[in-house]
Amino acid sequence: MIAAETKAVATKGYATHGPDAKFAPFEFTRREVGPNDVLLDIQYCGICHSDIHQARAEWEPMVPSIFPMVPGHEIVGRVSQVGNEVTKFAIGDAVGIGCFIDSCRECPACTTGVEQYCIKGSALTYNSTEMDRETPTYGGYSNKYVVDEKYALKVNATGDLSGIAPLLCAGITTYSPLKRWGAGPGKKVAIAGLGGLGHMGVKIAAAMGADVTVLSTSPSKEADARKLGATHFLNMKDADATAAAAGSFDLILDTISANHDYGAYLGLLGLQGVMVIVGVPTEPTPLNAFSLIGGNKALAGSLIGGIPETQEMLDFCAANNITSDVEVITPDRIEEAYDRTVKSDVRYRFVIDMQNA
Ligand code: NAP
Ligand code: ZN
Repeated sequence: MIAAETKAVATKGYATHGPDAKFAPFEFTRREVGPNDVLLDIQYCGICHSDIHQARAEWEPMVPSIFPMVPGHEIVGRVSQVGNEVTKFAIGDAVGIGCFIDSCRECPACTTGVEQYCIKGSALTYNSTEMDRETPTYGGYSNKYVVDEKYALKVNATGDLSGIAPLLCAGITTYSPLKRWGAGPGKKVAIAGLGGLGHMGVKIAAAMGADVTVLSTSPSKEADARKLGATHFLNMKDADATAAAAGSFDLILDTISANHDYGAYLGLLGLQGVMVIVGVPTEPTPLNAFSLIGGNKALAGSLIGGIPETQEMLDFCAANNITSDVEVITPDRIEEAYDRTVKSDVRYRFVIDMQNA
């Protein structure tokens, strides 16, 4: 008897098997390419600080870490196979995958294009399951991904894709709240934390026409901040400069990955200013009510962006020549990249070249 042919997609990735484990090669299969699926040959995958939080189980118990874990949700590559009902993509097209790869498709969030807020919980690209709630999802630190075309993004680029990968998370996570809260001409916008998200926030807010300030704890990043599009730089460790900047901003986008005092940043908002939190520190932070009540300020949050807005962001970045500033590494350097990212020593996104995985 001839064994039934398996069309599952053999995939090579890099996994961690526990919070203190090192990354190691990990072979697994992805599902057979279905009628609505595209198979992506992954070229590059960005390293988001969320990968580090989850690989090191820092968000537990809010977000359990499932091992073995193949992180990565800033994925770009080229289509190498399409299902017979696929209409959006053809073989050879450049494609991106962001932080989720499916959702219920029926709830008010899904039907209005904010699938990241799916009330049943979207299927995340890794450290999650498919919508069957059983099949584990493995991310982009790997050489192939099978995804429904509905959850894949079109990338309009002919050349090197490495600088585009980080747009799939860092780009949309900053674009969405900047747009929602009115970053544009006449608005004083501050970006707190100049890392992967922060440097995209500076580029995007500047392209939207806002007057951009970087709020940083790394004085050595001042020249870069200005090159990225900021007109001002505030060293948050300089108490006098910080006091002098009180009440300065209409909007603060907080991308900081570590625990910090929100009150110190809220004090920099002007009348009816808004601070949007996108960074996810590991511990809850106490907040003094006076820091919001005085000045009628608002504190908001934002999670990545839906598929339509992610496509809009990719098109906006293409039209404005915006890509990420990246340091491309081979997969054997993931640990080093994690350690350097945690030390704020990345200019400004590590991206793994998966082409020889
Ligand atoms: P990153 O590249 O490590 O950048 C974080 C920046 O935060 C650092 O470069 C540093 O900027 C600043 N920082 C670090 N420690 C600090 C401290 N103790 N006090 C003040 N500032 C500090 O990280 P990322 O990839 O941009 O991610 C940032 C955060 O956003 C992470 O928590 C990540 O999980 C989260 N995230 C959220 C979403 C969402 O949808 N909401 C999406 C993606 C990521 P300076 O050197 O300029 O001070
Ligand atoms: Zn991310």
